[in-house]
Amino acid sequence: MKKKAVFFDRDGTLIVDKIYLNDPDQIEFLPTVFDALRLLRDHGFCFLGATNQSGVARGIVKIENLYEIHRRIKAEFARNGVDFLEFYYAPYMTDTDHFMRKPNPGMILSGASDYSIDLKNSWMVGDKMLDVEAGHRAGCRSALIGFADLPENSNFSPPEIHAGSLLEIAQSIVAMS
Ligand SMILES: [Mg+2]
Repeated sequence: MKKKAVFFDRDGTLIVDKIYLNDPDQIEFLPTVFDALRLLRDHGFCFLGATNQSGVARGIVKIENLYEIHRRIKAEFARNGVDFLEFYYAPYMTDTDHFMRKPNPGMILSGASDYSIDLKNSWMVGDKMLDVEAGHRAGCRSALIGFADLPENSNFSPPEIHAGSLLEIAQSIVAMS
């Protein structure tokens, strides 16, 4: 049987957006992240990451540091009782329109294929409207966290959920599932 998942953007959603984070020591989790994922875990969701990393193409983010950052984030989740399966990343420039780069759905579709995910019952969560759009293009519902990138200023379809914290979003996902 196919599983349901929540796909997460990384920067500005799970951890503080440090703009081209390259130093694993600078990882800083956002408030309510662990409570949110434990709640979703208890309702049968598994977890995958989908992160645009144009900093790799720009030469600002070293690939070995990117791997170490994702290893540490997964380890911290494991310490908090959460099995975070994998981060997918798109190391392409912002102007490439690469299928793997959000707002395109390539990373989400790859995750769905690798882990046998039922996209119709899955969600994409991010802090930008391009995250929301990537989720919709993949056939998921989407949630927007925070108020830096607003649906009313975007040409993309609005998210099904919009809230200020990840815990509020998790509670809404559970209520709508
Ligand atoms: Mg982000």
